[in-house]
Amino acid sequence: MQIVIVDSSRVVLRIIASLLEPRGHTAHVFTDSRAALAFLEATPAVRVLITSLEVRPLTGLELCWSARLLAEERRPLHVITMSSAHHVRNLAEALDSGADDFIEKPPGAEELYARLRAAERMTTIQEQLIRLAETDPLTGLYNRRAFFARAGAAERSVRDGRLSAILADIDHFKRINDGHGHDIGDLAIQAVAEIVAAEGIAGRLGGEEFAVVLPGLGLAEAAAHAERLRQQVRALRVGAGAVALSCSFGVSTWDDACTGSDAVAALIKRADVALYEAKAAGRDRVIVQAAAYPLAKAG
Ligand code: GH3
Ligand code: MG
Ligand code: MG
Repeated sequence: MQIVIVDSSRVVLRIIASLLEPRGHTAHVFTDSRAALAFLEATPAVRVLITSLEVRPLTGLELCWSARLLAEERRPLHVITMSSAHHVRNLAEALDSGADDFIEKPPGAEELYARLRAAERMTTIQEQLIRLAETDPLTGLYNRRAFFARAGAAERSVRDGRLSAILADIDHFKRINDGHGHDIGDLAIQAVAEIVAAEGIAGRLGGEEFAVVLPGLGLAEAAAHAERLRQQVRALRVGAGAVALSCSFGVSTWDDACTGSDAVAALIKRADVALYEAKAAGRDRVIVQAAAYPLAKAG
C-alpha cells in the first residue's frame, strides 16, 4: 500500500518507514503536515495516512479532518493517529476528528502490521463500495450521479477554459428491443458504451442515453470527436442477428454562461437541446449547439 507518514522527527519517520518497506509498502514521509496534505490531495493511490498528533503547521487533528474531507465518499483512505502520550482524551479526540485508528509512538512492529492489515481490509471494502455506488452495472460507465460529480470536479479544475460535452442517444432503440429482444438491446447499450467511453469522462445518464465531458476540447474538436463516435456506432453489428444501429449526438461547449455551481448541468442542457435537434432532423447525425445560444437560458 502507499502510506503517508507525518511526524516532526526524522528519526521516527525513518524507523516507521524501515518497518514498512520490507513488507512491500511504499512510505512517503513528511515533517510538514501541510505538505503531507498537498501530497495526499495529488496522490489518490495513497490508502493510509499515519500522523502524529504533535505536528505543524496543521495539528494532527486538523490534518485528520482535512484528510477525511478530502476522501469523503470518493476515495478509500484509512487514517491512523499516533501519540507518545496514550491518553484516553487523545484517543477520543482523534477518533472524533475523523481518525479510524490510534497507535502509540513509536509503534511496535507487530502491532503496526496488524493495524495495517485491518486498514487494507477496510480500504478494500471502501473501494468496492465506491465502485458499486458510482458505476452502472450494465456498462461499467459512471452512473448519472457519479457522472455529474466527476464532471463537476473536472470542470472546476479545467485550466485553459476549454471543456465540451457530448450527449448521445441510440436511435429508435425501442425497435431494437421489440424486434430482437431485450438481451440484444442490452448488448447494443454495452457496445455503444464501450465506444463513447474511449475518451473523456463518460456516464450512462439513463436507458440508452450517454454523456461525455471532454476537458481541454473546444467545440470544433468535440464535434469532430462526436462524428468519429457516430461512424463507429454505424459500423457496429450486435448479436447473432447482426443488428445495425445508429446514434444521434448533441455537442456543447463551456463559456462564461456556464459558470457557477451548475456549470456542468448547463453544459449538458445545451447538448441536450442539440441532441433533440439531431433527432428532429432525422437522427444518425451530430448537431452542435447554436452559435447564438441564448446565454440567459443557459444557467
Ligand atoms: P429515439 O430515436 O427518439 O431516441 O427513439 P427510442 O426508441 O430510442 O427512444 P425512447 O427513449 O422512447 O426508448 C428508449 C427505450 O429504451 C425504452 C426502454 O424500454 C429501453 N430501455 C431503457 N433501459 C434499457 C436497458 O437497460 N436495456 C434495454 N434492453 N432497454 C432499455
Ligand atoms: Mg433513443
Ligand atoms: Mg432516450
